[in-house]
Amino acid sequence: MTFSDLGLSSALVKAVEEKGYTKPSPIQEKAIPHILEGKDILASAQTGTGKTAGFTLPVLQHLSETKHPKYRPLRALVLTPTRELAAQVHDNVREYSKYVNIKSTVIFGGVNAKPQIATLKSGVDILVATPGRLLDLHDRKALSFKRVEILILDEADRMLDMGFVRDINKIISFMPSKRQNLMFSATFSNDIKKLASGILRNPVSVETAPQNSTAKKVTHKVYKVDKNKKTEFTIKLIKDNNWTQVLVFTRTKHGANKLTEKLVKAGISAAAIHGNKSQGARTKALRNFKDNTIKILVATDIAARGLDIPLLPHVVNFELPNVPEDYIHRIGRTGRAGAAGEAISLVCSEEVEYQNEIEKLLKEKLESNIVEGFEPTDTAAPKRAATQSKGSFGKKKPASGGNRPKNKPHFKGNNTTPTSGRGRTGAPKKKRT
Ligand code: ADP
Ligand code: MG
Repeated sequence: MTFSDLGLSSALVKAVEEKGYTKPSPIQEKAIPHILEGKDILASAQTGTGKTAGFTLPVLQHLSETKHPKYRPLRALVLTPTRELAAQVHDNVREYSKYVNIKSTVIFGGVNAKPQIATLKSGVDILVATPGRLLDLHDRKALSFKRVEILILDEADRMLDMGFVRDINKIISFMPSKRQNLMFSATFSNDIKKLASGILRNPVSVETAPQNSTAKKVTHKVYKVDKNKKTEFTIKLIKDNNWTQVLVFTRTKHGANKLTEKLVKAGISAAAIHGNKSQGARTKALRNFKDNTIKILVATDIAARGLDIPLLPHVVNFELPNVPEDYIHRIGRTGRAGAAGEAISLVCSEEVEYQNEIEKLLKEKLESNIVEGFEPTDTAAPKRAATQSKGSFGKKKPASGGNRPKNKPHFKGNNTTPTSGRGRTGAPKKKRT
């Protein structure tokens, strides 16, 4: 199967060939013909499998083959949950539209709106945007949705998590009801299906991998590490292995800043990327990471969602996410486009329950390791560790199971059965990052 076989024009085929794509990925093979036929689709495929080209190519084909008024009204809108993802999708749109007469731009918050307004006024066929700034500019009459023919929701599950449903519905309310809708998501939750049923009309469901699966070439590794030694352990991992490009996830913005500072102090080039950073700082950090000016990018979940970093070999979970699906998204940053990747998680005793949830979702046990000198000290299991525990864990109360005696083991050695199964039930789904 080739891109031409899918019915794509030679101008588009030429552009993807220049990108080095030799044949369509499975999701592209399945989705593109339906989209070209004008059908609504609900598509799910594991991360890093080329969903962006899966919707961009047929949309570009439609836009370039059909007539439009001279003033170039907005005809296709791609909504993404984060600024970085919007920028990245737009980069792809630009590359794929190199040989067709299509104008595109990207719009997101955190930067000056004036140039965005000017570009919109000059006429744009396809727009990639985050919902907030888009609505803002619509309120300011900088653009109209009245001529939109195709709406694309990328990373729709994340948009739900981030609370964008009202914004999305508001944007849709300004659009003609007759239009094509494409919804892409890495996972298919029940909430996604509900959102889809409100937006899509007789959608074709396209799925290429079992639900919630991760890229096959990613190996998972867990290190049981003392909570207070995680930073030291991260530095050791990076130095011992001579790693040159690692994406590290922390659960909080503050944690990301703290870790970044300590890495830099240890002589490792690093930058943090999260919602409290200015857009300029975020863009710069990502660019420097991609071009290898810095070795380590420390990110929170929201900032890193959907990012495509070619050949990223290592992802480290400094803390496990408390929402198990996020694990899949995090490690989906590595092992992309068929490359091999390694996902390493530092798990302290408080996080064993999170690990269990993740293993349940993956239907796979993660290989656990303990490195001498870094053992969790709040467990009686590795005996040597218990004698070193003084003062390290006692300082802080565990986040979950607060009524548990401090030194009661949560797990034993490599066996990760928790003694308390409560902890995170009822924890709010929405996280701060
Ligand atoms: P997803 O949205 O599914 O997570 P992306 O669209 O970001 O994935 O694509 C992941 C990577 O795969 C990108 O670097 C992209 O350039 C590359 N890619 C996409 N389609 C193909 C293809 N047909 N052949 C080779 N590489 C591809
Ligand atoms: Mg994507």
